[in-house]
Amino acid sequence: MTELDEKQLNDLEQAHLDFISTVSHELRTPLTSIRGFADTLLNSYDRLTPEQRVKFLSIIKDQSNRLIKLVENLLTVSKMQSNKDLLVYKTVDVLPFIDAAVQMIKSQYISHNYICNYDKNLPKILVDTDKFQQIMLNLLDNASKYSPDGKSIWIKVSQDFDNNTLIISVKDEGIGIPKEDIDKIFNKFSRIDSPLTRKIQGNGLGLFITKTLVEKMDGQIKVQSSDKGSEFTVIFKAAGPEDNGLKKIKEQLC
Ligand code: ADP
Repeated sequence: MTELDEKQLNDLEQAHLDFISTVSHELRTPLTSIRGFADTLLNSYDRLTPEQRVKFLSIIKDQSNRLIKLVENLLTVSKMQSNKDLLVYKTVDVLPFIDAAVQMIKSQYISHNYICNYDKNLPKILVDTDKFQQIMLNLLDNASKYSPDGKSIWIKVSQDFDNNTLIISVKDEGIGIPKEDIDKIFNKFSRIDSPLTRKIQGNGLGLFITKTLVEKMDGQIKVQSSDKGSEFTVIFKAAGPEDNGLKKIKEQLC
């Protein structure tokens, strides 16, 4: 084994150990909290006020949701990285999928305003529609959870005729991302360490999954942010007559 091979193997081993340690921490934190509050409810039920019982049960529910989200994201990452995740490409008009994602998020964040602005006669693109919807849900969920109640989120879809691309942007007026952290947010388990972010639930996998899916489908993702809010932009090539979903599916099998 050459020195380079040995270094690569050590780096891989270290990355694997870091991954296990982060996942264990992410699993242990909500589990410890669930067990603690369940113990308190079991041992001191009669001494607790009804408000305390509701508060503790709500924490158990929130922490269980956090675990479910983590397990779902871990399964998605593992599937993506094992290359067993076959993408079902179709040439589609993506507006109905964007609308469906906006409606889903709207029902979860009832105090935000969602403002959609779509150009006319937009081109179709060649994507896996489930994965495309997952990208939209992740971006809309982040825009919503990192914005205070009552704020607006703008969803814009337009065509860039010069580059023959479709441009989708999700803009919020939330807490923003510090300049020095902007390159890290697409890394696995990367969360910004600030008092504001710590109050908001997340596991730092959403944008890693989003970027991986966008790039798998030959798209690009960009972000701009200031203390007034953030804008995530996803760019896909407009589909042409030469683009064929079946051919793309077969290519993955070779
Ligand atoms: P999480 O589950 O923590 O939201 P993500 O991978 O989706 O994980 O995002 C990574 C980090 O990027 C978040 O923890 C947050 O600090 C930051 N971030 C993502 N989207 C936004 C946004 N719209 N506004 C402000 N910060 C954001």
